[in-house]
Amino acid sequence: MAKLFFEVVTPDKVLVSQEVDSVVAPGSLGEFGVLPGHISFLSGIVPGELRYSDGVAKESMVVTSGFAEVSNDKVSVLVDAAERASEIDVERARQAMERAEERLAKGRGVEDIDFMRAEAALKRAMTRVKIAERSM
Ligand code: ATP
Repeated sequence: MAKLFFEVVTPDKVLVSQEVDSVVAPGSLGEFGVLPGHISFLSGIVPGELRYSDGVAKESMVVTSGFAEVSNDKVSVLVDAAERASEIDVERARQAMERAEERLAKGRGVEDIDFMRAEAALKRAMTRVKIAERSM
């Protein structure tokens, strides 16, 4: 059966580099799925769950922001950060959520950039908590 070559790369490391049967990713225009033979395309990646399967083995990961390229049965996901669901430190994510919520509660000030950063941090932390809890 035809396979996809799948890689997940962050600035720190290559988290995944292997053949798989399918990939489902959180695209900026919505979740998309890729099977062998898919047309080539590029998509933004937003914080969310990235799933892939290889036979009966299924894996769930959290990704933050980046891009995905699908071309010639190869799926490359380049993101700022990614972790396997089983490797998420839930306590750390909860603390990140609290810090972000505190910042957001102070409201939008002159330093709008901090507000936007806190919104993005909250989104990452909420995604981590949701996916970690689901995989427990
Ligand atoms: P924090 O404030 O806790 O650092 P963050 O959202 O700012 O959270 P990122 O910038 O997305 O963190 O990621 C920095 C690095 O830490 C990445 O390598 C990422 O995989 C890892 N990381 C962040 N949060 C967690 C977590 N809850 N569990 C495991 N790894 C994490």
